Amino acid sequence: MTDVDVVVVGAGFAGLRALHTLRERGYAVAVLEAGDGIGGVWHWNRYPGARCDVRSHDYSYGFDPDLEQEWRWTERYATQPEILRYVDHVVERFDLARDVHLRTRVTRMVFRDAGWDVETTNGAWRARFVVMATGQLSIPKDPELPGQADYAGTVLHTARWPREGIDLTGKRVGVIGTGSSGTQLVPVVAEQAAHLTVFQRTPNFSIPATNGPVSDEEDAAVKAVYRERREAARNSPTGLSFPVSRESALEVDPEERRRHYDVQWPTTGFGFLLAYRDLMLDEAANATVADFVREKIAAKVTKPELLPHLLPEGYPFGAKRPPVDSGYFETFNRDDVELVDVRDTPITGFTEHGLQTTEREVELDVVVFATGFDAMTGALLKPEIVGRDGRTLREAWDAGPRTYLGLQVAGFPNLFVVAGPGSPSLLSNVLLSIEQHVDWIADLLDAAGARGAEVVEVTAEAEAGWVAHVNERAEATLYPQARSYYMGDDVPGKPRVFTPYVGGVRGYKRILERVVADDYDGFVLS
Ligand code: FAD
Repeated sequence: MTDVDVVVVGAGFAGLRALHTLRERGYAVAVLEAGDGIGGVWHWNRYPGARCDVRSHDYSYGFDPDLEQEWRWTERYATQPEILRYVDHVVERFDLARDVHLRTRVTRMVFRDAGWDVETTNGAWRARFVVMATGQLSIPKDPELPGQADYAGTVLHTARWPREGIDLTGKRVGVIGTGSSGTQLVPVVAEQAAHLTVFQRTPNFSIPATNGPVSDEEDAAVKAVYRERREAARNSPTGLSFPVSRESALEVDPEERRRHYDVQWPTTGFGFLLAYRDLMLDEAANATVADFVREKIAAKVTKPELLPHLLPEGYPFGAKRPPVDSGYFETFNRDDVELVDVRDTPITGFTEHGLQTTEREVELDVVVFATGFDAMTGALLKPEIVGRDGRTLREAWDAGPRTYLGLQVAGFPNLFVVAGPGSPSLLSNVLLSIEQHVDWIADLLDAAGARGAEVVEVTAEAEAGWVAHVNERAEATLYPQARSYYMGDDVPGKPRVFTPYVGGVRGYKRILERVVADDYDGFVLS
């Protein structure tokens, strides 16, 4: 059993940042990573078209001014290979690899004697503290379709894309799923494949990336004010750096509103959600933006018979995380691309030559599952985590995830979660939220050390209060009106509760600051 101060589970952006920060502060740290490479989602999701949907300059670490000055992003929305190059650069620059243990999946953790026994597929560790940097979207979901064993073609998942890539030239490809991954993948596969069939369940409100190369002038302009840009992001609702409207969509006249949407649409990406302050709060306000987006989509599609299938209806814009796309809807104008609406004709299973729907057999050489993840809670519930009195996390979260501030769970002392349930997480620029959490956890460990405390835990009362607050804030919004991974709808049988914290990055930051000012209110350091 290897002894360290802190075990960090996961070597994505969160795990690497935790390693760097905690090591700098003098803790002995081991990062345990299930995969055979560093980078988290950017290691796993190598599908063609994979890229960030937050601008590269913002979707990067903000802790080191030299790092942000020396790195040169080539595209406004960097591709997966470029992000992985950035990760490699960070790993080398801060000498991180020596404390990362690859091919080491944590299978079980038990709290004992003021610390954790950590069992893995590759040895055992003993640590005072454990930081779960296991990600929000790291457990891929496969649809359970009968007959897969009989299928003679190739089956892929976007989140387990082969490292060496795959040549789709001349192939008949089927893509199941049109969430963020499917939306990014479809235009690129259409360019390569002989024929593409897209199997769609829910049409999405997608926002155009308006991607492009980062010019030297643009890069210099960001770098001249990078510190201020980061600070603005930390004090914004979603961790993005541009100014946010304080106006209601219903208080401006329709022409002005239209002009505002027209300006915002090509420039804000995911931040288009903030075009007016009440888009996610008021149905009438949301309807104005939903109509605008539907109109934009309709203008891109030249086959009118597809519009009833491609136009999102029946749920508010933004209540599912909107994809940020590059030519997604235009792809359906091609003659070699076809849409199967599985609401009308569900897939019933695989055949030897492809997929069977209730209407016909679709012959395919390759089937791609772009079916997403067991989001937010999947990676936290996969290992068996045994806290005080032999109670497991699965038992504690039987009716849905419960945390205090998204950081700790009552009954699981010395265990911390980064950017997980109960924090802004996937409602934010996740990288910024990760850095906020890691710094906060490091400060808390230092505070515990300074007091000679060995155990850091949260009270059940504090947790209950936070859970109530998270739910109350969510209920005041339109988010619960959609079927989404925010609501636990991604996996059948998951409790239907709102999982991230909707109070915004800035609001959440203020709460964290208040908790510290109140001598870590809700935490017990003993
Ligand atoms: P991850 O990157 O998911 O890393 C977690 C790591 O933990 C994984 O490598 C996993 O193998 C490992 N792990 C899990 N369980 C165990 C275990 N039991 N034992 C050992 N190791 C384990 N967010 C944004 O804000 N903007 C974006 O543009 C954006 N784009 C995205 C694009 C894709 C394709 C995906 C999938 C997600 C995207 N996200 C985006 C969300 C993304 O989850 C975060 O941005 C961020 O990368 C999460 O980093 P992380 O380190 O917390 O988790």
